[in-house]
Amino acid sequence: MEAKRHEVVVIGAGVSGIYQIKRLTDLGIDAIVLEGDDDLGGTWYRNRYPGARFDSESYTYGYSFSKELLDEWHWNERFSAQPENLRYLNYVADKFDLRRHMRFDARVQTMTWSDTEHEWTIHLQGGEIYVATFVVTSLGPLSMPTLPRYEGIDDFAGHSFHTYHWPEEPLDLSDKRVGVIGTGATGIQVIAELADKVGELKVFQRRPNWSSPLNNGPISADEMAAIRDRYDEIFANCSASPGGFEHVPDRRGFWNLTPEQRIETWDRLYEQPGFAISAANFPAIFLDETANQEMSDYIANRIRDRVDDPQIAEKLIPRDHGFATQRLPLETRYFEAYNRDNVHLVSLADAPIERITETGIQTAAEHHDLDVIVYATGFDAITGGYDRIDIHGVGGQTLADAWRNGPSTYLGALANGFPNMFMVAGPQSVSGSTNFPRAIETGVDWLTDLLIHARNQGATRVEARAEAEQRWVAEVVRAHEKLLLRGSKGWFTGYNSNVAGHQEGTIRYQAYFGGVPKYVSIINQEAADGYPSIDLR
Ligand code: NAP
Repeated sequence: MEAKRHEVVVIGAGVSGIYQIKRLTDLGIDAIVLEGDDDLGGTWYRNRYPGARFDSESYTYGYSFSKELLDEWHWNERFSAQPENLRYLNYVADKFDLRRHMRFDARVQTMTWSDTEHEWTIHLQGGEIYVATFVVTSLGPLSMPTLPRYEGIDDFAGHSFHTYHWPEEPLDLSDKRVGVIGTGATGIQVIAELADKVGELKVFQRRPNWSSPLNNGPISADEMAAIRDRYDEIFANCSASPGGFEHVPDRRGFWNLTPEQRIETWDRLYEQPGFAISAANFPAIFLDETANQEMSDYIANRIRDRVDDPQIAEKLIPRDHGFATQRLPLETRYFEAYNRDNVHLVSLADAPIERITETGIQTAAEHHDLDVIVYATGFDAITGGYDRIDIHGVGGQTLADAWRNGPSTYLGALANGFPNMFMVAGPQSVSGSTNFPRAIETGVDWLTDLLIHARNQGATRVEARAEAEQRWVAEVVRAHEKLLLRGSKGWFTGYNSNVAGHQEGTIRYQAYFGGVPKYVSIINQEAADGYPSIDLR
C-alpha cells in the first residue's frame, strides 16, 4: 500500500488536536489529524455518561485563541455538561473548517522512526500507511479506560460498560437495578445523577474519595456579556495561578489565622464554585500534614452533616489520604444520594468483590443481583495512550520499554531517543495537574514555535538532549516530593490496580506539580535561549 505523506501527522482530534491542527494549517503547514474514533471531541465525544460535565469554569475551559470565537460562544452553565461541550468543539472545528484536515476511524497502531530519512512511518489499523517528518501526539491523558480484572466479567448477562463507553442511544434505567463500581470524579458525577433515575442503585466503593460541592448554576445573557468583557483578564488570571484557574491561593498563611478564622474561610470556600475549595485554599493544606488534617476534619464534618445515616457517613469519609491529596472530584448532591431509599453503599473495604456473575456481583459477604453494571473504574492515565501505540524510536527501542517504570521526558513535550515526536499535554507536563485547556494551548504554541524554529534552521531532526531530560525528570520528582500527594494512591501518581506494573509502591512521576507560572517560565526560557536543551540537526 502506498504511503501518504504529510509534513506533520497529529494523532488525536480532542481538545489538543483541534487546536494543534488550527495552528499548523494557519501557518500553511501540510498536516493531517488521525483520529481513531469516528468523530472529533476526544474525552467529550466519549464520556457521555449522565452527569459528565466540566469542573473547570466553562469560560476558562474554552479556547482563548480567537476573539471572534470568544464573542460568539455563549456558555449556558458555569460548569457545562458533555452535550454542550461536544457541541462547542464541533462548532470550533466547523467555524475554522478543520474537519477537512481530519481523518476518522484512523487508529494508529505503530510508529517507526527512521534515523536516516528523519521521518516517522505510521501504520494504521487496517493497513494504511502515513509518513511524516513530525508527529504530534495529542492522545489525551485519560483516553485509555481500564476495567477491573475480576473473574467472570464477561459472564454478566445484563448490560455492562465502562463510563467512557456509555451507550450513545438513550438508556431507560427507571426500573433497573444498577451497580456502579468506582467513586472517583466520574463515579461521583454518575452516582449523583443516576440516584433518582434508576430503580435501585448500588455503589461499590473500594476507597472513599474526598469531594466537595461544584456549585454549578446557569449563566445568563448579562453574565455572559460581562464574562466576554473580562476574557483578557480571565485568561491572565489563569496564567498567573498555579492550577490554571481564576481562583487565587489564600496567602494570609494558615498559621497566622485562628482556627475560627480558618473555619470561616472554609465555610466561604465550600459555597464557592469549582476548585475554589482547593485552589483558593491555604497552600499549607497541600504541604503540611497538620494543616491538611484540620482541613480534612472540616470536610469530614460536612459529610457527616449531609448524610443521614451516621454509619454510612463514616464509610464515605476517606482515612487513607488527606483532603485534595488526590485529584479532587467535585459533586452535586452526591452525599445526599445516600439518603435515598433506593441507593445503597456497598463498602468493598468490608467485603471485597470476589467475582462478577451472570446475574450480578458476588462480594465476600453476599450476592448483589443487578441488571446493569457501570464500571467507573478509571483510566490507564497519561501514559496509557502511548502504550497503546507500538512506538519505535532511534535504534528500534520502544517507548513502552523506555517508560516501563514511568515516563521520562523533557518538559513533557519531547523524549530523548524519539526525535520529532512532539507531545501535547504529554507525561510530566503541567497539563495533567491543572486546568487542561489552558495548559494545552501553551503546549501547542510552544511546540509549534519549536517546529517553525527547526524549519527556519533547516533542521529535520529535533530531539531532547539526554542530560536535559534527566534534569527535567529530577525537577518533576522534586515538585512531587514537596506535596502531600506523594503518599497517595491515584492516577496523578500512576496508581491503577487494573494495569500491570501500576500498583502500590511503584510511583510513576507522570505529572509536573510545580504549577502553571513556573512551568511556563521554564519552557519560555528554553525558547528564548534558542533551545539549548534540544538537539537540532
Ligand atoms: P479514578 O479517579 O481513577 O477513579 C476510579 C475509581 O474506580 C476509584 O474509586 C477506584 O478505587 C475504583 N476502582 C478501580 N478499579 C477498581 C476495582 N478493580 N474494584 C473496585 N473499584 C475499583 O477514575 P475516574 O473517576 O474516571 O476519574 C479520572 C479522572 O478523570 C479524574 O480524576 C478527572 O481528572 C477526570 N474527570 C474529570 C471530570 C470533570 O469534571 N471534568 C469528570 C470525571 C473525570 P480506588 O480509589 O480504591 O483505586
